[in-house]
Amino acid sequence: MLRARVAELERERDEALEQGQTQRIQFEGELESLRQATHPHCDASTDEQLEALKAVFETITDGVVVYDREGVIISANSAFHRMMGITSPTDYISLSMHQRYSRLHVRDGQGHDLPEDELPLARLARGEVIASSDLADLTFQTLDGREISTDVSGAPLLNVAGGMIGMVVVFHDITARKQLERQTNEVLRTLREEQARSRASESALLEANRRMDEFLSIASHELRTPLTTINGNIQLAKRRIDTLLTPTGELAAHQDKLKLIRELLNRAERQVRIQNRLVGDLLDVSRIQGNRLQLNMDDTNMVEIVHNAVEDQRSAAPGRVILLQDDLEGWVLPVHADADRIGQVVTNFLTNALKYSASDRMVEVRIKVVGSCVKVAVRDEGPGLPPEEQKMLWERFYRVPGIVVQSGSGVGLGLGLHICQTIITRHGGEVGVESEVGKGSIFWFKLPLVSNCVTT
Ligand code: ADP
Repeated sequence: MLRARVAELERERDEALEQGQTQRIQFEGELESLRQATHPHCDASTDEQLEALKAVFETITDGVVVYDREGVIISANSAFHRMMGITSPTDYISLSMHQRYSRLHVRDGQGHDLPEDELPLARLARGEVIASSDLADLTFQTLDGREISTDVSGAPLLNVAGGMIGMVVVFHDITARKQLERQTNEVLRTLREEQARSRASESALLEANRRMDEFLSIASHELRTPLTTINGNIQLAKRRIDTLLTPTGELAAHQDKLKLIRELLNRAERQVRIQNRLVGDLLDVSRIQGNRLQLNMDDTNMVEIVHNAVEDQRSAAPGRVILLQDDLEGWVLPVHADADRIGQVVTNFLTNALKYSASDRMVEVRIKVVGSCVKVAVRDEGPGLPPEEQKMLWERFYRVPGIVVQSGSGVGLGLGLHICQTIITRHGGEVGVESEVGKGSIFWFKLPLVSNCVTT
């Protein structure tokens, strides 16, 4: 949008410049007609020539002034008087060239005082012809206090013998055009500055994102290493306790205490599992951001993947009802996929369904063939989601406001669904959610089946 505005303003400026060019050509023409009128080939006397000039002068909208050889004004048209704010032409005419210019305070395009020998009359007196492009941008402080910009052009007036008898100068008022140019340039400058600022903040954002991803990658590696050790020690302790859990022998009296220790170890194990999942999510999301998520693709059976994920959750949350349709016995729904990653998606849908619904609510998993795809859907009886949130929840770090964990596996980071979506998309599949506030949700994904291999 910024670029379009810049282009538009540049176009406006070019048009203004073009218009100025046309006007310049026009007054070059006017100057030429003045030259013709005063040309020495004409037989009329100098007075008659000046009379003819006067008549032409008054019809010209540019300021035109005729000087004698010394720079004394012989005649100036009313357009010139108006332009320069001269209220008393007779007084003005009596001023010397130096006096006139010191009152008009002439400056060049850069705003510097024009040196006296660069003034239009001084140059004409040296026999130069001034094209408007030479003095394209002179600023005059007018006698009534305005500041005007002009293009100035002029030529010496020569007699038959080629001797100089005077000079003629045309002043073309370009104040309005200059003002438009200035305004346009000012707006352009502001827009360019804004563009530069937004580019700078864009690259700062990219840099911040890069650092964030680098941090996530390092932090999740560092966090996972001690977790692996803790988990190993828990498993070892549980095995040792199992060997001591015998109803007879020396430790028979301590059986209850040993069972309690085992329960504590189970709890610790659950916490490590949760922690491990969070760290795993962080690691995955940093892999996704860095385009490093690898898939180990193989031919695999979707029914088996779903069945395993359901069994894992049944044993992790033994108090919950997780239904899986029972007509799947013997079914093979072949997909070409990374079985671990697809299992991760099913598990994520399941753990969300369990944690965002009350513990006495069931969760149901269904698998069905839809066209050339297999569709897996996880339904819960949780709070349900409004339509606008259904679009947002696939985004990185997004957590739906007002949705709270009701049971089970603890708070999340808002990464799971983003990872699920990426995994399924990378497999050429599709994810989605159907939900209504107060009526629970169905999270689903579809993957293409390996053709003609569906068997029962
Ligand atoms: P989290 O680890 O926070 O659960 P997810 O990416 O898996 O992250 O989910 C994003 C958000 O979507 C959750 O924080 C929750 O607000 C909402 N959400 C996910 N699954 C469900 C569900 N089954 N029912 C209601 N809200 C859900």
